[in-house]
Amino acid sequence: MNHPTYRTVEQVIDPKFVIEGADVLLRRSFGPNRANPYDPFLLFDHFAFNDPKDDPIRGFPTHPHRGIETVTYVLEGSVRHRDSLGNTGVIGPGDVQWMTSGRGILHEEMPQRGPEGRNTGFQLWVNLPAAKKMGQPRYQEVLAANIPEVALNGARVRLVAGSLNGQRGPVTEIAAEPLYMEVSLEAGADFELPIPADHTVIAYLFEGEGLFGLDEAGGGKFVKAVSMIIFGDGERFTAQTGPAAPARFMLMAGAPFKEPIYPYGPFVMNTAEEIQQTLKELRNGTFVQAP
Ligand code: FE
Repeated sequence: MNHPTYRTVEQVIDPKFVIEGADVLLRRSFGPNRANPYDPFLLFDHFAFNDPKDDPIRGFPTHPHRGIETVTYVLEGSVRHRDSLGNTGVIGPGDVQWMTSGRGILHEEMPQRGPEGRNTGFQLWVNLPAAKKMGQPRYQEVLAANIPEVALNGARVRLVAGSLNGQRGPVTEIAAEPLYMEVSLEAGADFELPIPADHTVIAYLFEGEGLFGLDEAGGGKFVKAVSMIIFGDGERFTAQTGPAAPARFMLMAGAPFKEPIYPYGPFVMNTAEEIQQTLKELRNGTFVQAP
């Protein structure tokens, strides 16, 4: 199959405010949906508690997950977590927690404000293929200091997963072979990155503005924060900033599984029967199993 060289912008999503957990206000770009348009990505949430009137942050009390991976990236403040496998910890600014739920975990996620009074970050859900949905749960917690920073064409990239310029992100062995990085573009930057043509590519612009998805003719779409940008087919991702305005975005790419999905709350399985089975296990107390 022939792919165009450059990926152009297919869609710009204006994130909607939603309430999740214990009254937590989030900006959601998209959530799990049977049409699965951004396969392998299922959900992208932006949490930002910047207003002192929001006090207290109540977070996400104990809840289950099955069939997915959740990735938490903290910009400011911290997130304290605890789970049914006995793991507990706090991730702070620049840290990442990559949780593979596999067949099942119960966990609690509690955001806390940093010294400036803010708590900001992102949660991404990545699908698991049918063959791995009932696998062992696993965590990969990465501290900021272990995330490589790569300088490239006026960009500073923090590489969480995937490869760039001979460097490799610390999160590995993820089924969707994802690329996950934070990109900070200075003003006047011209950023270009090869990404496998059969991967889904999305970018969450959370600061600044720029031209995205430039093609041979120099076109492209001007996008301002805060926006989720969905890219079309192609081999190269491009972004350009104007002479006076920098931009900061999360860039995600991954191989689609092309399997039917059946989401239900915090579970994403392939069929309605598997969801029924999950709910039954929760009721009869066999959902969480010792490793
Ligand atoms: Fe969770």
